Amino acid sequence: MKNKFYITTPIYYVNASPHIGHTYTTVAADVLARYHRQLGDKTFFLTGTDEHGAKIAAKASEAGQEPQQFVDLTAQEFQSAWKSLNISHDNFIRTTDPEHIKAVQAALRFMYEKGDIYLGNYAGLYCRGCEQFKNEKDLVNGLCPDHKIAPEQMSEETYLFKMSKYARELLVKIRNDEIKIRPEGRKNEVVSFIEKEGLQDVSFSRKNVKWGIPLPWDSSHTSYVWADAFLNYLTGLGWQGPKDKCPEMWPAEVQLMSKDILRVHATIWQAMLLSLGLPTPKELFIHGFFLVDGQKMGKSLGNVIAPQDLITRYGVDGTRYLLMSATAFGSDGDVSWQKFDDKYNADLANGLGNLVARVSNLLEKNNITLNIKISASDFKKDYAAAMQELKLDRALEILWQVLRRADETLSARKPWELADKEEIKKILEPVAQDILNVAELLQPFMPETVAKVIKQFSEPKIKKGEGLFPRV
Ligand SMILES: [Zn+2]
Repeated sequence: MKNKFYITTPIYYVNASPHIGHTYTTVAADVLARYHRQLGDKTFFLTGTDEHGAKIAAKASEAGQEPQQFVDLTAQEFQSAWKSLNISHDNFIRTTDPEHIKAVQAALRFMYEKGDIYLGNYAGLYCRGCEQFKNEKDLVNGLCPDHKIAPEQMSEETYLFKMSKYARELLVKIRNDEIKIRPEGRKNEVVSFIEKEGLQDVSFSRKNVKWGIPLPWDSSHTSYVWADAFLNYLTGLGWQGPKDKCPEMWPAEVQLMSKDILRVHATIWQAMLLSLGLPTPKELFIHGFFLVDGQKMGKSLGNVIAPQDLITRYGVDGTRYLLMSATAFGSDGDVSWQKFDDKYNADLANGLGNLVARVSNLLEKNNITLNIKISASDFKKDYAAAMQELKLDRALEILWQVLRRADETLSARKPWELADKEEIKKILEPVAQDILNVAELLQPFMPETVAKVIKQFSEPKIKKGEGLFPRV
């Protein structure tokens, strides 16, 4: 029997345009989805956008737009970015979808009627100018950045989710890997956090935020981000609420995310699932952050890298390759245009691209006929092991070792200096075979390029094709 594979990215908050961070997560999810489809697994890949909240309403009004109009435009930006990167998601969920809203309301009602949501108070820093609570981290020198005034400590009526009720159950599930959190260090962080601080009940609604999903039993409140955003992982599969059966593809095999949202995913999201009586995801995988030239990326630093900038310089597959090979998947990485240029020229222009060109050129020039097919290779097992462990950079490195070895063979034996056709063929045939086998395994990473190479090298008369990766 084939396995199922459900993979999600976080839904991206539409207060900003897509950048390299979103792109990294999404390409990684795409690579894994394509890999599992290739294995024949029943695969579903979900991504989307998180579109509610006071911040979005404020951004929209800044832009002189209605919130819906504003989120439509930004969601479109994400969709076109993914389209241009050849992302193969099965659904793109938006939290303003009417079906999503209905299901979130049904879930909230279920939790409320169960006694897991109750009326209480939320205390925090309130800006009178914004008419909103602010997070400590949004303040600049203790002041609201928009109103330049210090927010006041205030308390407001809110509905709270009884997360404390699920703390013990959750801790057990995380400790024994029923909810696997990888890399291991991230799991340890979550476990020690819950052990040390326990789980407090969490504010689930806001009173003065209009741009959100109204609570079905009290329309003076809208849902705060948690229920609204996390439930996308279910509604994206068509789930209509707690009365609906658990979707066939749920639970997710892998939920990808960066470390800044791990804690809320490992606690609030899991506790919600327990409250709803649904299975928890099998694995949360936390990938690293990119620094750009050693600095955190930010608008104010002017170092934001947009997906389109990368595509323009390196092409679609070049971009996908550079992102996936930039750092050990799960660790932080430091990127720069210089590093990307160097890696692109070394691995793609002078590496894969040059090897394919040299071999096909020699075969055509010497009128050599080959009959090779994709076949079992000694490196396939290592590659598969790396992919199963989500070591995407390692999987690529295994394939590049083969390509470099092939290159060395050519340089050592110099078939272009030989006259005997059979001699030349003896050198080129195993190299062409390696190229074909590498191409098969590279498909999830560089689908377009590899389709060309496979087609080219599956012909008995291999011809020199167009250059794959022009130097930058
Ligand atoms: Zn303010």
